[in-house]
Amino acid sequence: MYPLYILQKQFGYASFRMKQEAIINHVLQKKDTFVLMPTGGGKSLCYQIPALLFDGLSLVISPLIALMKDQVDALRVNGIEAAYLNSTQSPQEQKAILDKAREKKLKLLYLAPEKLLSSDKHTSLLETLQTFSISLIAIDEAHCISQWGHDFRPEYLMLAQLKKAFPNAPMIALTATADQLTQKDIIEKLELKDPAVFISSFNRPNIRYTVEPKQGSFERLLRFLEPRKEAQGIIYCLSRRSTEKLADDLSRHGFKSLPYHAGMEREQRARNQEMFLREDVRIMVATIAFGMGIDKSNVRYVVHMDLPKSIESYYQETGRAGRDGLDSEALLFYSPGDLARLKHFVVIDDNADQTKIALKKLEQMGQFGELSTCRRKYLLNYFEEQAPEHCGNCDICLSQVESFDETPLAQKVLAALSQLQEKFGAGYLIDFMHGASSSRMQEQHMTLSTYGCGADIAREEWQRIIDDLVSRRYLIKLHGSYPKLKITARGQRVLEGLEKVILTRFKEKPAPEATEKLV
Ligand code: ADP
Ligand code: ZN
Repeated sequence: MYPLYILQKQFGYASFRMKQEAIINHVLQKKDTFVLMPTGGGKSLCYQIPALLFDGLSLVISPLIALMKDQVDALRVNGIEAAYLNSTQSPQEQKAILDKAREKKLKLLYLAPEKLLSSDKHTSLLETLQTFSISLIAIDEAHCISQWGHDFRPEYLMLAQLKKAFPNAPMIALTATADQLTQKDIIEKLELKDPAVFISSFNRPNIRYTVEPKQGSFERLLRFLEPRKEAQGIIYCLSRRSTEKLADDLSRHGFKSLPYHAGMEREQRARNQEMFLREDVRIMVATIAFGMGIDKSNVRYVVHMDLPKSIESYYQETGRAGRDGLDSEALLFYSPGDLARLKHFVVIDDNADQTKIALKKLEQMGQFGELSTCRRKYLLNYFEEQAPEHCGNCDICLSQVESFDETPLAQKVLAALSQLQEKFGAGYLIDFMHGASSSRMQEQHMTLSTYGCGADIAREEWQRIIDDLVSRRYLIKLHGSYPKLKITARGQRVLEGLEKVILTRFKEKPAPEATEKLV
């Protein structure tokens, strides 16, 4: 049986995301693996699918008891034999689960780390587990083992014993947050053997980041929503009361919306969520209580009426837009006053250290609001990822570009390529458009109507236009024995005059003025 088959039959998903498939194949070879993937990226399947394909039992270490139950429930809904052990269960319940494992009726067993050394009379749970056939050990939230990480949990340190206890079981460590130091530390502490490291980019290229002044935010919001009447969107507010007020105000202006927050009656909350998921209502006005565990792929925009408390939260909340890969918006209303006001909310009584961290995170979020450089670069750098100076898809970058209608030039390229039956690469195509002499041209091409159609434009300029057309998916490059350009369906539309090609370029920046030396 193949991973893809399990993905489709057991989990009901069509295809793998990001590096899931590569990770799963690596784990299936019984090799140690380290996975860094953004929240919501789909880490769970990376060990759940191997667990189903292996013969024995797989252990999953997870720190949060509440999430553990959700995960196990979700697996059971999919007909998968999974269970968890934690301190909320009675001894009888725990014994029943271990009996099931002993009878090989379990595929996945979720454990809180502190359970491992807990003992029943004389045998520790770890010793009991050693009598089972363990195929795989997954460590979720693996950064908790490192003091360098931001969520160190002392009970994770005992996981260092797992490798010795189960020398033959491959181990997979997963986290959404670990800088290089933390990565190294996790690998050392868990004693991973020569692990493959899979790091997924945090970039969400289809999300456009925009910040607008908070002053007059309601009118600005109406203007933003006007062209997006048919789209699903989430609008986050800080307080419960403001979600209700905003949902009312928007509804009165013809944008039907529903509120969602943790203070609402459970039934009402579930009803509102259901209405949004079924698209009976387009807009959800919510506190951050909304969104966790919700997997709606066509959310077209996420608006923040108030400043989120950290870049992590902002990234996670805006990340709910555009899961389907289509163009989406993240709009934040920001004012420096907001930052000052919010500082009072992040103070954690009696904990100076944590308060300091919370304030720092809030300030980093404030900086995002005040950037005059690419916002995506800031986000990616925050997660220690390299990024180009300009992304071309945030408000800052877009304010520095000019648009050109390049449809006529694009049509020339496409028409010429089409007459050449899409059998050539850029070099020959440009020769052809330039009307190159017979030493460089096949005879029969020199009688085609588009031969020489681009003689008035320099070769480099055509090359640039072709590169643009490739990067915007009007053309694709095939690399066979020699490279060929092919016209995509989108390119075909341009050729037929059904779509325009608007290309953007960065404006030439004026040279910085020489600053006078003060000494
Ligand atoms: P993480 O642990 O990385 O935060 P999860 O494993 O909880 O993420 O996955 C987030 C959501 O994405 C879940 O609802 C999950 O079912 C869904 N998901 C994961 N992989 C896929 C996939 N290949 N196709 C569609 N949905 C997926
Ligand atoms: Zn940018």
